[in-house]
Amino acid sequence: APKENPQVVIDAHGLPYQNAKLPVKQRVADLLARMSPAEKAGQMTQAERNALRSQGDIATYDLGSLLSGGGSVPTPNTPEAWAKMTDAYQLRAQATRFQIPLIYGVDAVHGHNNVIGSTIMPHNIGIGAGRDPKLAEKTGAVTANEVRATGIPWDFAPCVCVTRDERWGRSYEAYGEDPALVEAMETVITGMQGSPSGKDLARNDKVLASAKHFVGDGGTEFGSSTTGSYTIDQGVTKVTRKELEAVHLAPFAESVKRGVGTVMPSYSSLDVLGDDAGPVKMHANAEMINGVLKDRMGFEGFVISDWQAIDQIPGDYASDVRTSVNAGLDMIMVPTAYQDFTKTLQDEVTAGRIKQARIDDAVSRILTQKFRLGLFEKPYADTSNLDKVGSAAHRAVAREAAAKSQVLLKNDGAVLPLKPSQKVYVAGSNADDLGNQAGGWTISWQGASGATTTGTTILDGIEKNTSSATWSQDASAPTAGYDAGVVVVGEKPYAEGIGDVGNGHDLELTDADKKAIDTVCAAMKCAVLVVSGRPQLIGDRLGDIDALVASWLPGTEGDGVADVLYGKRAFTGQLPVTWPKSEAQLPVNVGDATYDPQFPYGWGLTTLRKPPAGGEATLTALAVAAQLAERAGLGRTSAGKEIVDRARLLVQQRTGGKLTAAVSKPFAEADHLLLTGDLTGAVARLRAAYRAV
Ligand code: BGC
Repeated sequence: APKENPQVVIDAHGLPYQNAKLPVKQRVADLLARMSPAEKAGQMTQAERNALRSQGDIATYDLGSLLSGGGSVPTPNTPEAWAKMTDAYQLRAQATRFQIPLIYGVDAVHGHNNVIGSTIMPHNIGIGAGRDPKLAEKTGAVTANEVRATGIPWDFAPCVCVTRDERWGRSYEAYGEDPALVEAMETVITGMQGSPSGKDLARNDKVLASAKHFVGDGGTEFGSSTTGSYTIDQGVTKVTRKELEAVHLAPFAESVKRGVGTVMPSYSSLDVLGDDAGPVKMHANAEMINGVLKDRMGFEGFVISDWQAIDQIPGDYASDVRTSVNAGLDMIMVPTAYQDFTKTLQDEVTAGRIKQARIDDAVSRILTQKFRLGLFEKPYADTSNLDKVGSAAHRAVAREAAAKSQVLLKNDGAVLPLKPSQKVYVAGSNADDLGNQAGGWTISWQGASGATTTGTTILDGIEKNTSSATWSQDASAPTAGYDAGVVVVGEKPYAEGIGDVGNGHDLELTDADKKAIDTVCAAMKCAVLVVSGRPQLIGDRLGDIDALVASWLPGTEGDGVADVLYGKRAFTGQLPVTWPKSEAQLPVNVGDATYDPQFPYGWGLTTLRKPPAGGEATLTALAVAAQLAERAGLGRTSAGKEIVDRARLLVQQRTGGKLTAAVSKPFAEADHLLLTGDLTGAVARLRAAYRAV
């Protein structure tokens, strides 16, 4: 047959779109041409599973997708039950005229985090601290494997947000404050989806990813709410066009390059300074979604709205529907109003307020991903990987990620690493709490304290390394005779909003945590671990603390934290965000005109190896090595980091690990340059720091 008119092969089952041998494009066109307006509207609809009035509604409304919102879990909450649950929904979809499979989605933002017994990774901020693109990719692959094993082909992750103000309650969902760092960690998308071409998506261990939240979610302004509450979550991002491009859009361009299958707009509004438009809700922002994401960046996947987000667009429901779909949204997470939505959408098309071509484009985009995922051939869970959920091999990846995420901020007198022979006194609210160290989006939406799933706490990890640990929940009065104290403080779990509301929305430690630090550090040499989704204010207390570690939210593998505490692995993590001195300093980010934080972006001591001897001569050798490596394209890779790490070690050696003003700025700059691939520049900055001290 001539190329421009390929012969249509009728599959044994019947219709061309069912024929897996035909190109996806042709299958989509064939199916689309057969579909009714109601069937098309259904494809563009995503309902929450608990919102279904009956399972039969899946077929009645030809629903294209279902989701489990945070905490919407089956009973019992086991991997097997998840697979059965999704199969049952899929069975309903198979009862429709064209048997178009559902695409089921979940928020697996740090492992398959809704499922008890799954492997929980450190939250993204810890992955950013680890700065290891290969490892980030592995964590994505593990997550995808566990999610797909339970019959779910779609994950609303990763957040490629750039957090610019850590009062934002979603700061821990960001890899950091530097777009270059966020971009470097987007290997996670490749881990989840495989090749950017989409050819791996049909595998039983891959899922479709979702880059979110487009765009500017991490840049919302603080405190401008007229209602008196803080607008830091879902508020207005006010930026110049230049800043918008460089800080917030750049990571999405990277997602598109990596072939991300879906993009989710942000609840926030965008106000581009200098434009007359004023703040525009991102779900109504045609210029950004149609113009920038789809036309300019060439995004070919589909755009999924955030939860009930179109309802926030000013105007009645018909206007919400028409505005969002015309702005470029392809599927709407309604999530309860599926009857209303499918009807309103069709009415708007009939009235000519949404063009038929827009609908056909949206449906084609959705069907394309369903075909790529192989859902038409295999709609049901392939349970052969169920035993991988929470497996030892997966936990080993999470453990390595937890270890690498630990940032050693201070280490006077080399308190760390600890020795197994030392008598240690362990205290603090987050030392023995699996739920607290996993954070939000763990088993339930908000997460919860306590043993909510399986794993090891930090205390468990310590106790595996030494038989001489004493544990005290409240740190009341440690007696003398201990070689070291380990005080683990920080936040309680939360998701979205402004964060740890119970403890106040600021970054203050609780009184109990402060007391624990003060009591233990007065009695013995102490290491303080801060388990939190964002920096906590340490202030002058820093002087009383011998060693300080930013532990972030390490996930279920407390063993990984113990690994670095006991020197089984070296501390190599670096700050993914600036650590402020005070609340008044916020927002504070690397590159600010005045920059005087407690610890700069990129800071992190290492217990790695003996620092290379030779000072300036070694630095020169490293600079030469950096140049060669750069030519070989090793910037932004683990090999590049290795070179910069060695240069950091020299500076660390020279300063005795003390943070001075002279190293603060070059350190932060070096880290940024490394991430942009400029190894030579990074080493040059560290050389300047070395000379200055
Ligand atoms: C969050 C999204 C999430 C969605 C679905 C929303 O509240 O903003 O990040 O994907 O819920 O659970």
